[in-house]
Amino acid sequence: MGPQRGELLRAELGIATFADLLHHYPYRYSDRSQITRIGFIDPRAEYVQLQGTLVNIIEEGEGRKRRLVATLYDDTGRIELLWFQGAQWMKKTLKQNERYLVYGKISVFNGNINIAHPEIELLSAETASPGRQPMYPTTEKLRSRSITNRSFAKLTQALFEKLKPGDVTEILPPEIMNRYRLCSRYQALKWLHFPDTEEHEQVARHRMKWEELFLSQMLIGRLRLQHTAQAGWRFDKVGDNFNNFFKEHLPFELTNAQKRVLREIRQDTGSGKQMNRLLQGDVGSGKTIVALMSMLLALDNGFQACIMAPTEILAQQHFSGLSGLLQEMGIEVRLLTGSVKGKPRKEILQQLADGSLRIVVGTHALIEDEVRFRNLGLAVIDEQHRFGVGQRARLWQKNELPPHVLVMTATPIPRTLALTMYGDLEVSVIDELPPGRQPIKTILARDMQRAKVMEFIRREVDKGRQAYIVYPLIEESEKLDYESLMEGYGQVKVWFDENRYRIAMVHGRQEAGERERNMHRFVKGEAHVLVATTVIEVGVNVPNASVMLIESAERFGLSQMHQLRGRVGRGAEQSYCILMAGSKVSDESLKRLKIMESTTDGFRIAEEDLAMRGPGDMHGTQQSGLLKFKLADIVQDSGILEETRLAALHLLTADPTLALAQNQPLRYTLSQQRKQAHWGKIS
Ligand code: ADP
Ligand code: MG
Repeated sequence: MGPQRGELLRAELGIATFADLLHHYPYRYSDRSQITRIGFIDPRAEYVQLQGTLVNIIEEGEGRKRRLVATLYDDTGRIELLWFQGAQWMKKTLKQNERYLVYGKISVFNGNINIAHPEIELLSAETASPGRQPMYPTTEKLRSRSITNRSFAKLTQALFEKLKPGDVTEILPPEIMNRYRLCSRYQALKWLHFPDTEEHEQVARHRMKWEELFLSQMLIGRLRLQHTAQAGWRFDKVGDNFNNFFKEHLPFELTNAQKRVLREIRQDTGSGKQMNRLLQGDVGSGKTIVALMSMLLALDNGFQACIMAPTEILAQQHFSGLSGLLQEMGIEVRLLTGSVKGKPRKEILQQLADGSLRIVVGTHALIEDEVRFRNLGLAVIDEQHRFGVGQRARLWQKNELPPHVLVMTATPIPRTLALTMYGDLEVSVIDELPPGRQPIKTILARDMQRAKVMEFIRREVDKGRQAYIVYPLIEESEKLDYESLMEGYGQVKVWFDENRYRIAMVHGRQEAGERERNMHRFVKGEAHVLVATTVIEVGVNVPNASVMLIESAERFGLSQMHQLRGRVGRGAEQSYCILMAGSKVSDESLKRLKIMESTTDGFRIAEEDLAMRGPGDMHGTQQSGLLKFKLADIVQDSGILEETRLAALHLLTADPTLALAQNQPLRYTLSQQRKQAHWGKIS
């Protein structure tokens, strides 16, 4: 390949070496032996491969609706092909009256079948050759310089003619390959590009998925070993702060789960090693008190502690909650957020630096460079999925020894995700709700029942309760969503007479100050109804609220709805969550909503969410960058994941530093990967 095309390949797909090319996998193989005749296309089929002559290549429509339309025919019928993007370029390349091979997804429009953006190639001796052809991902730009799917096949083919099996270093130790019956790396790559049979393709795919997941489990396993070796502050005494609080100020009896978690934390922090613990507990399970008591433990041992929340409202709530509880004990708590400025800010920074302030609550503001602690012993991170990995890492750099870290999340994390994302953390689970809670009743309602629903909410409010009404505002900047929120607000005002009821509204477009004030009105019980977007999703605690109405519920993720539902049912009253589905919801969506109706088990909901939407859409996993597997899918390949976890554990037990000769290729690969992924900074 010449230097110009080579550079293009590097710029577009990051392919610069033979190895890069080898790892540019086909996403599919087209079976050239299967050609459907146009007149016999089954409208229910998904993808079809056709052969025919192309005619009537014309551009239609104006402006953004501009598209290219062409007709493909054979002796049984005709079909329209459409291009909405790159129409001009396609128009230049397509040739009238030539024979083409076409592959694509069919759609039915006004009773006619068409294919949008098909793969299309001039029919030639090559394209007509039978057997399985690899199809490679490429880009519009590459295609326009005629680096097509077929070019990749040719390049890779040429590469394999030069390669000897020994040129592809085997990175898995022989023992593992034997035990798990994996084919060699060379063989896998060859079959992945050019499988002669479907079975070979499966074998190859399995081996490469296995490798991907195994490498990730090795990285996690080694991180974990490192954590366990990392020295940490030793909290060896339980002192007055902890004991006084426990005996005199604790407003309720701890649940057994809370006690167990506290014991686990005391064990960790007393061990002389740094604690890295993930605390999972469903909404309302009482994580805050565990955090508070852990912080008191830090104080008892002469250290400072901080708690970091993802939003100002949450930080504010933690702040007022903690100061309320600690005031009587004479422990000062201060709040540091982006909106604390000027003299108060200077004062807090000074107090943190000289150690006179021992507990601080804050947002991201806590990890800014100017924030220096005298001796930070414990960092609690609430609802951590909102924090990027890098942000968490910065807290660690504030000390000679890293502080103990307690990460709290109310998003139940399915086991498969936890293994890939948090496999290096110890996990505590609060699996018990405080006593006296009544399970929340969840009701699915349709738009036509709105009057009844509003009537119901009004009765609840008349009994002295409060209600949330939440609108989907996925992207706070989206104009449409904003308008529907305003429309909804207008409607709510019609149902709730202004002379009798007070309604507050919070959304992301308000200024932070205004939002806080409105939220506060609801928290203090001054407003009966809170109309809101998902800004209230995490953590907010108003025990008197007994109704959560979720509008256009089909637009929410299950886990997200579970979080919202957790905002009610915090007091002794029977609480309700009403899912209002729009008039045009699909059966699929209804099925999802029914899951919400049938269970309050956050773990089950998270599993369903993961299965339906895939890990990419789960809360916060996007930013983690840990789930970027080329082939493996942690839901579908959970069996392999489990296998690789055990294999990694086994290997690291036998050879923790990977010093043995047979593990050298693996060790080298891991060090390369680690550099790429900045794994060292995680957790
Ligand atoms: P989350 O785990 O969702 O952060 P919180 O810590 O906000 O939950 O606790 C939810 C509510 O339950 C709070 O009002 C808190 O005071 C109360 N609570 C926590 N633990 C107990 C307990 N052991 N007994 C009774 N109420 C509790
Ligand atoms: Mg909380």
